[in-house]
This record gives sequence, C-alpha cells and structure tokens, in this order.
Amino acid sequence: MKIYNSATRKKEEFAPIEEGKVRMYVCGPTVYDNIHIGNARTFISFDVIRRWLIASGYEVTFAQNLTDVDDKIINRANEQGRTAAEVAEEFSEKFIGIMRAANVMDPDIRPRATKEIGPMIGMIKSLIEQGHAYAAENGDVYFSVRSDPSYGEVSGRKIDDLMVGARIEENEDKRDPLDFALWKAAKPGEPEWPSPWGKGRPGWHTECAAMVHRYLGTPIDIHGGGSDLAFPHHENECAQASCCWHEGFANTWMHTGMLLVDGEKMSKSLGNFFTLEEVLEKHSAAALRLLMLQTHYRSPLDFSWERLEGAENSLERIATCVENLVWAANHATGEADAERAAALIAAAERASAEFEEAMNDDFNTASAVAAYFQLVTEANTYLDEVAGAADPEACFACSAGIAGAFAILGVKLREPKEELPVGLLGVAGGLCGYTGDSVDDAAEAILAARAEARAAKNWELADAIRDQLRDMGLVIEDTAAGSRLKRA
Ligand code: AMP
Ligand code: ZN
Repeated sequence: MKIYNSATRKKEEFAPIEEGKVRMYVCGPTVYDNIHIGNARTFISFDVIRRWLIASGYEVTFAQNLTDVDDKIINRANEQGRTAAEVAEEFSEKFIGIMRAANVMDPDIRPRATKEIGPMIGMIKSLIEQGHAYAAENGDVYFSVRSDPSYGEVSGRKIDDLMVGARIEENEDKRDPLDFALWKAAKPGEPEWPSPWGKGRPGWHTECAAMVHRYLGTPIDIHGGGSDLAFPHHENECAQASCCWHEGFANTWMHTGMLLVDGEKMSKSLGNFFTLEEVLEKHSAAALRLLMLQTHYRSPLDFSWERLEGAENSLERIATCVENLVWAANHATGEADAERAAALIAAAERASAEFEEAMNDDFNTASAVAAYFQLVTEANTYLDEVAGAADPEACFACSAGIAGAFAILGVKLREPKEELPVGLLGVAGGLCGYTGDSVDDAAEAILAARAEARAAKNWELADAIRDQLRDMGLVIEDTAAGSRLKRA
C-alpha cells in the first residue's frame, strides 16, 4: 500500500511501526457551531482511509479530539450569553450525532481538550525545562521556534520565508515573532485552569500533541487533517512533541484537499457554506459520500447541488443494478449462456482487482469507484441481453461484488427490493380472478391475461394491465424467451 506523505511530498510504501497495527490521529473540530460539508469532507475522507486500512487487515486505533476550549467558543458564548462549556457541550453532541448520520465511524478514542489540562501542563513544563519554551511576564507561555532545528519539515517551509510579514501583536509578549503560545493567560470571564504560570488555558497546538502522546504513544503511524492545518497547526504540534519527547511524532502526514464553492474554499468566515445537517436533510449520506469519493482526497473538490444530484442518480443506478441482478438470479427462466456468464464473472473479478489496486495507490477512490461503475454498465448489458435466462451464479457474484465494494467505502446502498410486491395478488384478483397467495403465480396470471388480451386485439385491456403494473413500479419486458415482470 502506498500513501502520499505530505511531509516528504512523496508517495511512500506504507509500513506501520508495529506490524499489523495502525495508530492514527485526525484533528477534530472546534465545537462552536454546526460543521459544514467542507469539514465533513475531511472527516469522511479519513473515515474511508480508516475503513480501507481495516479492510486490508490492519488493527486500527483511531483517535480524534474535540477542541472544546478556544477563542471561537468563548466569542460564541459571549454573543449568546451562555458559558463556553455550554456552547462546547451542545456542539460536541451535535458533531457526534451528525457524524453518525453521515455514516462516519466513531473514533476509538475521543479526548476532549478541557479534560486533558494536566498532561498539557506537564508537557509545557518539560519544554520550558529543556529550553524550548519560556514563560512571559503576562502569564503566557511561548514555544521558541528557533530552538527546533527541524521546524518547517511538516509543511515544507523555511524559517527565513516565515519571517517575512511576521510580527508581534500588541497583546503578545513574545521574544520572536515566529514563537507561538502554548499557554494563554486568562482574561476576565474566560474559562481558566490553575497552572505554574498563573490561571489560563492551553493553546490549540498543545492540545493535539499532548493527546496523541497520551492516547496513542509517539511516534504514531498516520496524522491527518485538512490541508489548511498543515501550517501552522501541524507544524507546531510536531515541533512541541519532538522537542519534548525526542522521538518522531508522526511517520506519515496526510492532508485532504479543500472543498470549494465556485472555486473558493468553503468556510464559515466567507459565509459560503452549507452545514452537513442541511445537506443531509435534502440528500442521502451515501450520495454525499459518493460525490466526495469521485475526487481524490488530496485534490480540491468543487461542490454544487447539481453534482450532488448527479451522485444521487449514480447511487440509484448502482442500487437498481444490484437489485436487478438479485432478482434475475432468483427468477431465472430458461438455459443460461455459459460463455456470457463466464464473461460477467471475469468482469466482476477485474473490477475487484482494479478497486484494490486503486485503493492501495494512496486511496485513489475515484478510480476504485470508476471500476465498479464500469461493472454496473457491463451487468446491465448482460441483463438486457440474456433477458430472463440469466445465470444465477454470475448474477450473485456480480451483485455481491458491487454491494461489497460500496460497503467497504461506507456508501450504504438501499436494500434491494428482491421480491415482487405483494400488491400483485390484488391486481391479479381483479384482472383475471386469481385467488391464490403466490406472488409469482399472480405475476404469471397477469402476464397470461395480457398475452390473451393482445392476441384478441383487446388493446384497451392490455393497456390497462400495463398501466396498473406501472403504478406499482413494474414494467413488462418482452423477450425471445417470453415476457416477464421487472422493476421499472
Ligand atoms: P476546524 O474545526 O476549523 O478545525 O475544522 C475541522 C476540520 O475541517 C479540519 O481538519 C480542517 O482542515 C477541515 N476543513 C475546514 N474547511 C474545510 C474545507 N473547505 N474543505 C475540507 N476540509 C476543511
Ligand atoms: Zn490537531
């Protein structure tokens, strides 16, 4: 399996630290509002990555934090006359709920920043002792960027370039404009915790580094987030961790591309966002995921409602194909053509091999999904050509392959409506006096009644039968092997 490592800017053969096990961490949300589908893109991408690692046989431990103390939360609380803790609690719960609705697996470990203050203070103390951090007069503690010779390696930046435009803000007490806060002295009305440097709260970058170390142990195999987190967040996480513990922090850094609207990054501040909640009110989670999977996780993805509608249609096409394959297998009539069946089985095997190859090539979901779109086309052609005389084994191999691949990706297909609707009993009773309780026999009786009506040139009755069936979502397919009922 090859994974693109943003720190080395190369695709590398993936070799976990401990054989068969993967420890991964993906930065979670700052819980001050509902998440938008840009955030969701990052979380869904890492869900698919995690699912593929699991499907490949790895034992994956996945940790994701909740940033439940932050300026944005405090501002929101002040606006609404609530406490920061209340705001954080509300949006933590909403985040957990909406992720489940999007079929994103719960993390194995979900630490909250406010419950991890002790380990963070321990880490900051150690950094000060080792000369990598200093407490300022005002009670802030800063990390000394120039004390870390490898600073810039995660995001590919040079210290000198970073100096351009860097400045010290009025309320900061830094020695160097590049330094960043590990601990922020409390301002009146803000959440605060006691510390050796006075009351205050941790900085965002400190949070993730401390939690990775505490819950997964450093170095970890994979650290991820959106590409906008590479600098400064991930760079700063890594600087603290490596200066504190003198071991690697993350072997592979993975960053997802941004979700865009009309070419611009979707973000709260630009106001060009749709919340995940509102999108899932209008569309299925499976369609949203399919839309995302059709673009590689590292590429930008332009969102539009038309594209989402398109994904919804593709999803229906896939589900209908699976349904028709199962139905054809269960209702096969006549002798199946062995050569055609073998060709369909070969197509299913080819799709499976292409899927695996694409996923192992830095999670190329776009190609993986395309392999199965191709199989759907081939299966549809097969069903059309063989009419009722389908080969059950080939149909099942194909339907299981398609359903299995999408299940691995976390795309839930609707359940196949395998059997003919029970309502056919009533229709058959009304049309041709059928009184039994077998839906299949009722279908036969209806088809016979229609054939009779057509033979007698009773077009009115033949059309009435067709219309009634159409109302039930069924069509009559006339083939050389005879007529049969099919879902429309
Ligand atoms: P935040 O709560 O702002 O830290 O964002 C949570 C996650 O969403 C981070 O991993 C961000 O990188 C990611 N993110 C934010 N905006 C977008 C976007 N437009 N497209 C993809 N990921 C995003
Ligand atoms: Zn983080």
